[in-house]
Amino acid sequence: MTQASTPRAQELYESFAPLCDPATYTPEACERIAATVAEIQRLKRERNAVILAHNYQRPEIFEVADFIGDSLELAQKATTVEADVIVFCGVHFMAETAKILNPTRTVLLPDLRAGCSLADSVAPDALADRKEELLRVHPDLQVVCYVNTTAAVKAVCDVCCTSANAVKIVEALPSNNILFVPDENLAAFVQQNTKKNIIAWNGNCYVHHQITPEEIGRVRKYLPHVKVLVHPECRPDVLALADAVLSTSGMIRYAKESPANEFLVVTECGLSDRLLLELPEKRFYKSCKLCAYMKMITLDDTLAALREMRYPIELDEDVRRGAERALRRMLELTA
Ligand code: SF4
Repeated sequence: MTQASTPRAQELYESFAPLCDPATYTPEACERIAATVAEIQRLKRERNAVILAHNYQRPEIFEVADFIGDSLELAQKATTVEADVIVFCGVHFMAETAKILNPTRTVLLPDLRAGCSLADSVAPDALADRKEELLRVHPDLQVVCYVNTTAAVKAVCDVCCTSANAVKIVEALPSNNILFVPDENLAAFVQQNTKKNIIAWNGNCYVHHQITPEEIGRVRKYLPHVKVLVHPECRPDVLALADAVLSTSGMIRYAKESPANEFLVVTECGLSDRLLLELPEKRFYKSCKLCAYMKMITLDDTLAALREMRYPIELDEDVRRGAERALRRMLELTA
């Protein structure tokens, strides 16, 4: 079978072709996807729901998303949503962020196993202890936490940041000493771009941390002209090989605006998929890794989330308020 039997399924089959994954996106699979997408769209109307999806999600999730973006864009979008229900196709801390900013709305995460190794690398009690210890040495200390943290950790911080605005946030703070949690690689990148004293936490994203300079070197050897776009969660020796160090949405803007036609995308593979679908006229080589947590979210679970209203995010109100303060301060500093 080389053709799907419905026009919508055939349209999907053709639009997924740039992914070069015919084993996954067969005509039969596209028929199932088309039927599930139609049912999700119907339930979205019935529930007055919106779907926010992170750039690392599966391509079929993009088909039902009302908005696709990186952590900062999704946090900003979460402040403007008017729907009763937000289905968050991303990982747990992102759904928490949507709930922090929308306490009266129902926020659903289709699979509660969708966590994050980076968010798990810092616990609120350990952070509070470290903050107290450092304040004795640096009375002006401010704690900046990456949005890839739990709500309880955000509540201990002074301000949040994303990979897109980390340097801007650090520069905007009235302090020379910054405890930066939890990503040691993003902390190193910030340190390279500020004269302030960055004290790093000992955490990393397992997806980005496993990418090596040798992998970049192998591609560059055969494609010396390729533009290398690297996410700042990668190791410093990988960042050193980049043409541009960018957040995922920064990579999308760069690829759209650049006169170059060939790019090596060094981050989670979902971003390469999005670029392949949105810019089929350009070439994207993958030096990417899959995030097992992001890929736990499936179209079937998204449908089940809307059908059964599962799994709602609940937060302790004190924690929520503390985390909201840190998130709102980030949004104010980047407005
Ligand atoms: S890619 Fe890394 S930081 Fe993002 S959700 Fe996966 S483990 Fe967490």
